[in-house]
Amino acid sequence: MANSEMKHSANAAGPFYVTQPDDPGGQGCTACTICYSAAPEFFSEDIEGYAYVSYQPETQAEIEVCREQMAACPPNAIGDDG
Ligand code: SF4
Repeated sequence: MANSEMKHSANAAGPFYVTQPDDPGGQGCTACTICYSAAPEFFSEDIEGYAYVSYQPETQAEIEVCREQMAACPPNAIGDDG
C-alpha cells in the first residue's frame, strides 16, 4: 500500500495519489514511466520524470483505469484513499 504520508505535492486533490521518490519505505515513484504512458489522462510527469495524479477519475470506468495503473506500478507508489 502506497504511503499516504509521502504524497507528491502536485497530486490533484482527491483519493488517488502518487508518492514521492524518497519514500523511506521504498514505495516511492521511480519514474519508470508506466502510469503516465499508459494513462496520460490521469497521470503526468514532473520535470524530473516522477509521476503525480493530474486528474482524479470520476466514473467507474475511469477509476478502473487508475486501479490498473496501481496494479502495474512496480514499487506500489500509487495509492487510493477512497
Ligand atoms: S508506474 Fe509507479 S513508479 Fe512508474 S512512473 Fe508511475 S507512479 Fe512512478
